[in-house]
Amino acid sequence: MRTPIIAGNWKMHKTIEEAIDELKKLQPLVKDTTNEVVIYPSFFAVKPCIDTIQGSNISVGVQNMHFEEEGAYTGEVSPKMVGEITRHVLIGHSERRQYYNETDETVNNKMKAAIAHGLCPTLCIGETLEQREAEKTLEIIRTQLGSGLDGFDADKMKDVVIAYEPIWAIGTGKTATKETAQEVHANIRMLLKELFGEETAEKTRILYGGSVKPANIVELMSMDDIDGGLIGGASLKADVFSDIVNFNL
Ligand code: PEP
Repeated sequence: MRTPIIAGNWKMHKTIEEAIDELKKLQPLVKDTTNEVVIYPSFFAVKPCIDTIQGSNISVGVQNMHFEEEGAYTGEVSPKMVGEITRHVLIGHSERRQYYNETDETVNNKMKAAIAHGLCPTLCIGETLEQREAEKTLEIIRTQLGSGLDGFDADKMKDVVIAYEPIWAIGTGKTATKETAQEVHANIRMLLKELFGEETAEKTRILYGGSVKPANIVELMSMDDIDGGLIGGASLKADVFSDIVNFNL
């Protein structure tokens, strides 16, 4: 039995004040859920958001981090700094891969650093439209998963979450059909089994991301290998996001 995770990636949206306001609206709306709820605000808003959600069932995390402990990396935040305030971190989001030179190698370094610092990383993977049309989806997923988790063993996988986010579905309004998403999720679980054994594969949560909204969460969550959602646009408004969190199968 895998507890679903519904996570909101706020990207570069919301000032500190706006973030706090939204979280205050969200708290009562999701207070009865048994799902895990995680919000990833911008760096500045992370600590104020953590202070705001004290005593609630919402967690707050960061959208990225560097892999080095410390050093001359202007503008970066280290895993040690992240670990001072939260355990949740997104690694390898496609926007970081696309705009900030994130590679499979840096993703792997960040994943290793996250585990070394006791964090719970969500490893984001997914194919472009071009790759899907060239029928390379499963090959890309194998490469991104294998290199992202290079050097991992079953023990290190305990706090790892995987997010499958087809790039063509992110922020486009085009959601993968439940069958398309399930096919890739089942494949990811099979790869996890190959790499770490059946028990780890069965325990690892695999989230779907890409234009998830209240209208499609139920059908996605009805699929065997979809264990939650990583949600961008539809996480920005508490009333919409809470409808996703409180989905009923
Ligand atoms: C995301 O950025 O992780 C995402 C899935 O965005 P959206 O829900 O807006 O497609």
